Amino acid sequence: MASGPPADDDFDIYYSLSEGSSPGAGSRERPAGAGPRAPGVTGLRNLGNTCYMNAVLQCLASVTPLVDYFLSGKYVTALHQDRGEVATAFSYLLMDMWLGEADCVAPEVFRLAVGNRCPAFGKKSQQDAQEFLSFVLNALHEALRKPHRRRASEKVCRGGKAGAAATAADSSIVTQLFEGQLSYHVVCLKCNSCSYKRETFTVLSLPVPSHYQCSLQECLERFFQQDTLRWNDQIYCSCCGAKQDAAVRAGVVKAPNVVIFHLKRFECYGKMKRKLRTNIHYPLVNLDLSPFIYPSCRKHPKYTLWAVVNHFGDLDGGHYTAFCKHAGTQSWFSFDDTRVLAVPEAAVQTAAAYLLCYSCQPFSAPSLGC
Ligand SMILES: [Zn+2]
Repeated sequence: MASGPPADDDFDIYYSLSEGSSPGAGSRERPAGAGPRAPGVTGLRNLGNTCYMNAVLQCLASVTPLVDYFLSGKYVTALHQDRGEVATAFSYLLMDMWLGEADCVAPEVFRLAVGNRCPAFGKKSQQDAQEFLSFVLNALHEALRKPHRRRASEKVCRGGKAGAAATAADSSIVTQLFEGQLSYHVVCLKCNSCSYKRETFTVLSLPVPSHYQCSLQECLERFFQQDTLRWNDQIYCSCCGAKQDAAVRAGVVKAPNVVIFHLKRFECYGKMKRKLRTNIHYPLVNLDLSPFIYPSCRKHPKYTLWAVVNHFGDLDGGHYTAFCKHAGTQSWFSFDDTRVLAVPEAAVQTAAAYLLCYSCQPFSAPSLGC
């Protein structure tokens, strides 16, 4: 696939690889005559309010196990041709971003493929980055899934003594990298009988308090704290044979290799929506998820931040950008459509964070299909 169209006169791309690795160094304009950019440090052209798409694509393009899977051609054998348009366009885009010569590319073919599946993403209107991310992960999974074969040695991790065996769902590169599983412990408040309910996730939506500031740990504690379901939220209790109030608590039974948190900054009040501007502090290394993972399922509870999608401004007139760690240089870059900047690690913590992507181990540089 050819690289994107030649750059316009006015496009901005700034970066400096040496600065990115020196802590505390500021962002600086790329000097004239600088050497070739690092593979994967590629801007994306805005096709008309597509900053949400570009920010999400930069995050996905920084997950090098995913990049390797596509660039090595492994995806071709798993591809279901009848529903493979988005996955194929995604692979071409990754080739442009990681193997192409251009400093920036236009994800036009990818947007067309996405728009064919979901017309809202083909329009020139602002969309929600989390909805777009979930859509892309789902489209890739649908295109690449194959029946899951459980090895005899594979231990079924159970949420508790009453834990039901996990259903053998189809697997794909998406489930291998991004899928986690929750177990909900449900207690009927009438008869005290308990049951477990499983649910898989690829993006975990966390409640955001309306304080001035809080920590990511606080958002996680809110998500995993015990909740009481009443009124319309009552659950059917098979012992009582009726809908009852219930106490519910979630725990992780399968922690994903790459965990993506969605900070629910958009609140609905009837027909009104408002944005929560809470400054959420999140660690760059050693995010400890063990308090939320069932003890028998704690394989790799410490996570490292790998990418951030930021949302600036209001609900309608907002703008999305991304911070991504580059696996080759282990340094951070800011991606604002075609504008690419090397940024110091300290710049990655902002009050605009909307999606956070953590990995259980640092990614290594992709083999670039070799
Ligand atoms: Zn009951």
